[in-house]
Parts: sequence; C-alpha cells; structure tokens
Amino acid sequence: MSEPSPITRAVRAGIDTDLSHGAVVPPVYLSTTYTFEEFGVSRPYDYARRGNPTRSIFADALAGLEGGAGAVVTASGMGAITTVLHALLRPGQVLLAPHDCYGGSWRLFDALAGRGHFELVLADLTDAAVAEQAIRAHRPSVVWVETPSNPLLRISDLGALASLGHEVGATVVADNTFCTPLGQRPLQLGADLVVHSATKYLAGHSDVVIGAVVCRTPEEVEDLAWWANCLGVTGGAFDSYLAQRGLRTLHARMAIHEANAAAIVALLGAHAAVSAVHHPSLPSHPAHALAARQQQLFGGIVTFELHGGLAAARAFMEGLRLFCPAESLGGTESLVSHPATMTHASMPAQVQAAAGITPGMVRLSVGIEDVADLIGDLTAGLERVASLS
Ligand SMILES: *Cc1c(COP(=O)(O)O)cnc(C)c1O
Repeated sequence: MSEPSPITRAVRAGIDTDLSHGAVVPPVYLSTTYTFEEFGVSRPYDYARRGNPTRSIFADALAGLEGGAGAVVTASGMGAITTVLHALLRPGQVLLAPHDCYGGSWRLFDALAGRGHFELVLADLTDAAVAEQAIRAHRPSVVWVETPSNPLLRISDLGALASLGHEVGATVVADNTFCTPLGQRPLQLGADLVVHSATKYLAGHSDVVIGAVVCRTPEEVEDLAWWANCLGVTGGAFDSYLAQRGLRTLHARMAIHEANAAAIVALLGAHAAVSAVHHPSLPSHPAHALAARQQQLFGGIVTFELHGGLAAARAFMEGLRLFCPAESLGGTESLVSHPATMTHASMPAQVQAAAGITPGMVRLSVGIEDVADLIGDLTAGLERVASLS
C-alpha cells in the first residue's frame, strides 16, 4: 500500500499508537517533566515547555497538510507570530506587511517596531505594482502576506510576492488562517513559513486558543522551536489535544463551510437590500481569477454591504437567531460581525473608509448548520432591512 495522503494522516494522527493499554485515541501527556533514561542520557522529551508528545502529534499532522518539514505549535496565533518576528528580524531590518493585516498582527508589528526591534513598512500587497515597488525600495528581510484579507477578502499573489521577496533575500511568511491548508498551500506557491491561528478553522470548535508555524526546512523547524521554547510561547498539552481533535474533521467541515457559503453568496447577490457582496468565488471580485488559481477553496467567510448604512446593519443583525453576534471565525457555529463597531472599532472613521470598511458592512463566518436554516435566518434579516425604507 502506498503512503496515506496528508488528510488520512491528519485523521489518523496518533491513532492506535498506545503501547501500554491499546487506547485507540492517543492519551494527553500532562507531565511537565520526563525521567532521564540513564545518567547523562535524556529522552526525546525532557521538559514540557520544550517538547510534548501530544503537541508533536498536532504539529506533525498540520505540517503534513501544509507540505512542510515540520511545525512549531504555540499558545496562540499571536504566539506563532511573536516567534517568527523574534527568530527572523534584527534592529534595522525591514518587515514589509499588508496595510490591512489582522489587527492583532498590526498591533504587535507596530509595538515592536516602536521599540526598535525592526523597521515596519506597510503597503497594499494586493496591488502588484505597489508590492514590487515596496520590495525593491525597502529590501525587506521579511515579507508578510495575509490572503484573503479581513474583512474584504482581498487577494494577494503569493507566488509573485515570494519570487520578488526571494530576489532581495527576504523570508516570505504567509498567514494561512482564513484558507487552511485545504484551501491554499503557501509553501507550494513559494512561501518559506506559514503561520496559523489554529484557534479558527483548524481547531474549528471555538473552544481553544492555539497557533502554529509550519516551516519548509528542518533547519527552520529547529530554529523556530528554539525560539518558541526560549520565549515560553509553546502550546499546552490539552490545547494541542483539542486542536488535533479538530484537525481530524477539517476536510469534512471545510466542505460544508464552502457549500453553505456558496449558497449564502447566491442569496445575498440576488437581494435588493444588499449593495455589494465580497467573496473571491464571485466573477465580480477584482481578483477572482487569481483566487481560482492559487486557492483550492474560496472559503467560508462572506462579507457584504447593506443599503442604508449603520441602521441597516443594526436592523439586520438584531434578531438573527442562528448567527451569533461575535468576533472570531472558523467554528462549526455561524457568527456575524459588524467590522465598523467590532473588529475594526479602534480605527478612526476616515481610516476605516480608506480601508474600505463601511458602516453598512457585515461579515459572516458561515458555520456548518443545515444551510436551509441559515438561509431562512439571513432572509428574515434582509426583510427587516427592506422594511426600514
Ligand atoms: C485570529 C487571527 C490571528 C491571531 O490568532 P490568535 O489565535 O487569536 O492569537 C492571526 N491572524 C489571523 C488572520 C487571525 O484571524
């Protein structure tokens, strides 16, 4: 029999490996410390901050899905980003990042740059000419790519950014939280490292905060593992267990997220209360062709705009029964958020406007409920908006 596919390996990671009792599901190793085999001879695991067998199962399964040499599992997505920044950047070197990156990433980039850890340059990396000019002018040591972006689902060309970045010797890092390795494979497209907020789709049940960095080479795995241990940001055993449990069903969940989102995109596009729908599956999306080329899934996040601004968004969201008003994304349950007053509330109005965030904009994290129920809930919301005018 040939080697099982990465999906099969993710489903079966650690299954039937317990030699003590024959437990089918691997145990959670809670011990903080491990005995020495004999005087001066340590075992593969010695102290749980540095290494833990439960964490390794998740790391290896995720690395398999991304096609990497290995992964470092961290206490959160921000822990993964912290590890990468410390490992790769010194004072005076440049980090080039998207101007509309995840707010927590922006806050960390800005705070560390403010203390002289590195120089930060922000640019619109979805614009090929702007990206090329920024890379040639600033010669960054790290190019940070986040595609699709939040909340507008703008697409950056991973392959083009990787080649340009490599021309100036940069390490190219992709935040693949939105797509997951089933929807996009940044290492295959030329990126060197992939970071994840595994809190979202990978763990998938909105009950654990955890992150990871997947590396192309064993040398990078070793270096980043050293930094994660040194910084003290490695992931906990029980959190790793929950994330691995989520990963077992990733392919099944993503198929339903994708199908439900497609039905919802069709509903929204045909409704008079809606002024715009942002989803890379739509031929009207400015980078639809690029998304179709570099992604295997268009994804379960759908952003749209309502005629009637803030009042319309409020009428729509108040009274939804299945979509919970909450930040975050990627869980089995559907969520709805209002970027202007929730995820992007810290931006002043004119900065929001420049970023394309409007008062009538709503973002859905489409869950895996029965799609007919989701359509019913959203249709009732759109009728409330229509009845306003
Ligand atoms: C949530 C998120 C993060 C941060 O991850 P945490 O697990 O919350 O620390 C980073 N990038 C993206 C794209 C995210 O959505």
